[in-house]
Order: sequence, then C-alpha cells, then structure tokens
Amino acid sequence: PNTPPTSKPMSGALRKKLQGYVGFANLPNQVHRKSVKKGFNFTIMVVGESGLGKSTLVNTLFNAPLYPPKEAVGLSQESPKTVGIQVLNTEIEENGVRLQLNVVDTPGFGDFINNEESWKPILETIESRFDAYLEQENRVNRSKITDTRVNACLYFIAPTGHSLKALDIEFMKRLHNKVNLIPVIAKSDTMTNEEVAAFKERILMDIAHHNIKIYHAQHYDCDDQETINETKDVMSKVPFAIVGSDKAVETSDGRVVRGRSYPWGTIEVDNEDHCDFVKLRQMLVRTHMEELREFTNDIHYENYRTEKLVGLGYQQDQTVFREIDPLAKLAEERALHEAKLVKMEQDMKSVFQQKVQEKEAKLTQSEAELYAKHKEMKDALEKQRLDLEEKKRRIEQGRPITPEKKKKGFGFANK
Ligand code: GDP
Repeated sequence: PNTPPTSKPMSGALRKKLQGYVGFANLPNQVHRKSVKKGFNFTIMVVGESGLGKSTLVNTLFNAPLYPPKEAVGLSQESPKTVGIQVLNTEIEENGVRLQLNVVDTPGFGDFINNEESWKPILETIESRFDAYLEQENRVNRSKITDTRVNACLYFIAPTGHSLKALDIEFMKRLHNKVNLIPVIAKSDTMTNEEVAAFKERILMDIAHHNIKIYHAQHYDCDDQETINETKDVMSKVPFAIVGSDKAVETSDGRVVRGRSYPWGTIEVDNEDHCDFVKLRQMLVRTHMEELREFTNDIHYENYRTEKLVGLGYQQDQTVFREIDPLAKLAEERALHEAKLVKMEQDMKSVFQQKVQEKEAKLTQSEAELYAKHKEMKDALEKQRLDLEEKKRRIEQGRPITPEKKKKGFGFANK
C-alpha cells in the first residue's frame, strides 16, 4: 500500500489520483483569509462631459456619498481651462471586507469648444500610474507596493440616440489598449426602451467598425452553468443604459426606492426592468472586480511594460513571452535600472548646465551694472575736476567768478 500509485515518469498532462485526503483543497480558503486580512484596492476612472451624471452614478454604485454635494463645492467656481484629474480616495467596508476605493474623475473632458486633445491628460495619468508601479517593482524592497493603476474606465456616452461622436471614438481608440473600457449610456431615462435598444445597436456597430476593444467579462470552464449564464446576460447589456440617483423616492404603490420621480411615474435605479444599473454593478462590484484587476495587470500593464522595455532597445521573443526566465528578467530589470540612471544623469547634467548658465547670465549682468556705475562715478569726478580747474584758472587770472559760482563756493563775499 506504500508504493507510489504509478512509476511512470512525471508529465505535465498526467493527473495523479490521490489515495486519501491531503488538505491542499483548502488552498482557496487560505487565499481567502489572507486577502480579507490584506483588504482590497480598486481604482475606477469616470470620463464624460460634465453633467452626464458621473458623480451621481459613483455615489449610487457604492451606495455612499463619495462625492461631496455640488452645492457644497460651489457651483460658481470658475470652470477649468483644461481637462483636470481629480482623485477621491475612500475606504469602504462590507461584512468585514475592506475595500480601498479610488475614483479618478476627469473634470473638463469634452467641455471645451475644441476638445481635440481632451484624451491626452487622461492617457498621461494612466501611463504615469503604470510608471509608478514599474518603478516600485524595480526597487530592492518590493514589500510595500502601492497600486494606483486604473482598473476600469467608465466612459459616459451622452443619450443623443444618434451614434458615437468623434470625441467618443477618438477617446476610446486612444485608451482601449491602456485600460478596461466600459461604455455606459448616461441618463438613459431620457430615452424610450426602443430608442435605447436602437442606440445600443448603433454604438456597438461603431465600436466594431473602429476596432475598439472594450472590456469583455469572461467566464471560465470551472464556472457553474448559472454563473456562465449570468456573465452572458451581463455582457448582453453592454453598453449599459444607466440611471443614477442617490435619493430615496416613494413609488405610487408606497415603496421607498432609489430612483427619480417624474409626473408620469418613478424610474427605479435598482429595477432591472427600468435600466441596466443592477447589471453594471453586478459586473463591476460583485462578479468581475477581481478580473478587472487581473486584466489591468496581465494585459494592459504587461503590454505597457513590454513596450517600454522594447523602447529601451530590449527584444523579447513573443512566443516565449509568458515563460519567465529569471536571468532574462534580471537583465531586463538591470537594463531598466541602468536606463533610469542614464536618464537621471542626463537630467542632472542639464539642470547643472542650466544653473551654470543662469549664474553666468547674472554675473554678466552685475558686471555690466558695476561697469556702468563705475563710469558714472568717473564721469562725475572728471566733471568736478574740470570745474575746480576752471575756478582755479579764473582766480589766478583775477577774474570775478559768476554769481552762481559765488553762491556755491564763496558765500563770505556777501557779508
Ligand atoms: P457630473 O458632472 O457628470 O458629475 O454630473 P452629476 O452627477 O453632477 O449630475 C448632473 C445632473 O444630472 C444632476 O442634476 C443630477 O441629478 C442629474 N442626473 C444624474 N444622473 C442622472 C440620470 O441618470 N438621469 C437623469 N435624468 N438625470 C441625472
């Protein structure tokens, strides 16, 4: 009974049958305990013209007043001249599970007469967050990495009922390789069901036509049928037609719900017959938050990192990309580090040169000033000398001096 179950050599494809309970089936529970202890971190970005309901939706999604009321901020504030980046960090807790939620807002996007490069600051912030992560990964001590990478980007499409605007297409094309894009139709309560369906179809056609890759929630072989159906159901709603409201209202049959009241009835945010909010929340928060984080790390960040290394002159055989060779990784990291050192050195040199130039310019200026002062003094002395010589000559010749000169030099003559 102590002989091993098989004497064949080990092979990756061969699955051995255990002869009793060993205990590693408990591994998922160990991971569960550890991650609950550590807490979770999720960064969501919201992009869309102002007034499309971004802050309302974030408050509705997490059922918390994450955004301060607009009145408190002050509506009279001067509107920004460029697209800004605003970050809200909050820790929320549900049943003992802590979530560090970071919301990145992009006020000003699409609000100008010329919105041509509105996407640029947004792309820059996503990339700078990748850079910050990369930099931490390359440190000697990697025990405390702060992950601020953007895990999902909710893109708000205005409920026009037509098709995507040039700005929408430009933004999505620029960003789809950097972040998990989730398009949503804002304020969908302003459209009828038929209009929403037609608009969704048109948006999906535009997205396909422009080869834009939006986030696609996955299901796996190990998922049960119910989960697979749920995931498919969620994906069938993309782009999610949403309604946001963090206010409770009373329906005609006396229920108190989160929704929006109109003279003709109430739109309920949490009612799946009224909008896709529930499905969006299900995907984003309940079923696919971890997958969004995984995609960020394994696809978007990995691509960015590869591009960066290739940009530094490093080549990697794409076919063996996933097989990690520790030596190659070390060499990559070293190259990255060396490139950083070279850049630092260059930066320092240019700062030094700039400082020297500034100093030289200052010295030249003060030299010129000194010279001018010196000349001025010399001229004054020379004038004085000439005056005195003139006086002396006049005295010697016995000529009277002018009243002006009298007053100045020989006041006793008046006595
Ligand atoms: P933001 O500028 O994109 O953050 O937009 P806000 O969340 O401040 O919303 C702007 C206005 O639209 C507010 O008056 C909200 O009450 C309203 N609003 C937000 N969500 C919805 C929605 O789903 N439907 C409708 N009809 N109005 C909404």
